Amino acid sequence: MSKPVYNVVKRPGRAPGDADIEIPVAEDLVTVPGVPKRDADVAFYSREYPLQSQNIEKTADRDWVWTVYTDEFTKYRKGHEGRVQPLIDKALLSGDLEPTGAPEPGVDPTEKIRGKAREMGFGEVGFTRLDRKYVFAAKKRWVKFEHSICLALEQDYEQTQTIPDMEAEYAHYGTYEIMGELALALADYIRALGYRAQIHSPNDNSAAYIPMFVEAGLGQLGANGQLLSPHFGSRARLMMITTDAPVIHDKPIDYGIQTFCQKCQVCVNRCPGRALVRDKVWWRGVEKNKLIYDRCRPVMARYDGCGVCIKVCPVQRYGMKPVMEHYVATGDVLGKGTDNLEGYTFMEKGYFGSGKLPQFDHDFFDLPHGTREDWLFERFKQRLTEDGVPSADELTKFAEGVKTVLDKGPSTRGDE
Ligand code: SF4
Ligand code: SF4
Repeated sequence: MSKPVYNVVKRPGRAPGDADIEIPVAEDLVTVPGVPKRDADVAFYSREYPLQSQNIEKTADRDWVWTVYTDEFTKYRKGHEGRVQPLIDKALLSGDLEPTGAPEPGVDPTEKIRGKAREMGFGEVGFTRLDRKYVFAAKKRWVKFEHSICLALEQDYEQTQTIPDMEAEYAHYGTYEIMGELALALADYIRALGYRAQIHSPNDNSAAYIPMFVEAGLGQLGANGQLLSPHFGSRARLMMITTDAPVIHDKPIDYGIQTFCQKCQVCVNRCPGRALVRDKVWWRGVEKNKLIYDRCRPVMARYDGCGVCIKVCPVQRYGMKPVMEHYVATGDVLGKGTDNLEGYTFMEKGYFGSGKLPQFDHDFFDLPHGTREDWLFERFKQRLTEDGVPSADELTKFAEGVKTVLDKGPSTRGDE
């Protein structure tokens, strides 16, 4: 059944020079531009319970994943970390570099920067305020500038459709490697315009980036927890550059995704870990479908990064315009219920068409929680309860383990 159209969102074409696209938003999908939120609650949680990088808050499972990765994944991931290390080092210092040119009087740098970023290959580029409420506690003193340039680079389409598979991981991590290089060049360009630029690496995250992408109008938050951008859906990889250039901020947009996801639910139905939830909840002042981390992590770690929630999303697969046009014409979700959209092969478990899911034992979802030191103490408490006070040798080993962890210290690197 066709639907009345409330609004038509006009967005730039996929590549520079492409015609603009028009995305119809059906009347029954309309909510608010961006995401429904309660600003006072967002501010409260940010102040009292500041966001922290998973690489600091969840070091126990971040270490554990390396024990269950496949050999191929381990080898590739180590290579990736070696390749991005120099990029992260440069990004960390980028905010200290002085401009190399002088601003042209009366010239607005916004479209120059957008044009340059698009020409370099970033498919979605937007401007907003750097919202410190979303900056990780570990990086609050690092961030320097008030304007945020949100940059999304498309991950290869064909490779993404192989999810879950190493081929898709080459695309995932490979895209981050390309972005790291592009960011250095774009920051140089901003400095040549006469302004400063700080690179927020996609491999060393400084903040929850999605809220700022939503604020910049580059998409909306999907039920899969990812940014659904107009051209690439959740196939967009994200990073930011912040700057003191006086750029004009974009505005959030209602693409209809907030309600569309409640009608679609394909990612929720197809998630092998049953980690995605049907209903929205209010979380830290924002209304969203909140992913259950402990159900996702064991699947991602053992099955080549999983990512089924990316692959089966119709917005990723077909693009937002065809999906929304189909909804307006029929009231249906394009591809929903078909193996073409919903089917996937899950390594040794085989093929799962629409309506069928892999099964896992309860033990499969056991994983260490909290930080490395939390986890060491947790196991120590368990040892005391089950076997009494350990020997002097065991106590020394425990103390050495804690000391090694403390010496290693916290790091946001590898957060991607
Ligand atoms: S990565 Fe896999 S397990 Fe995690 S939410 Fe997505 S589909 Fe579910
Ligand atoms: S699969 Fe459907 S419900 Fe999930 S994020 Fe994509 S559009 Fe939303």
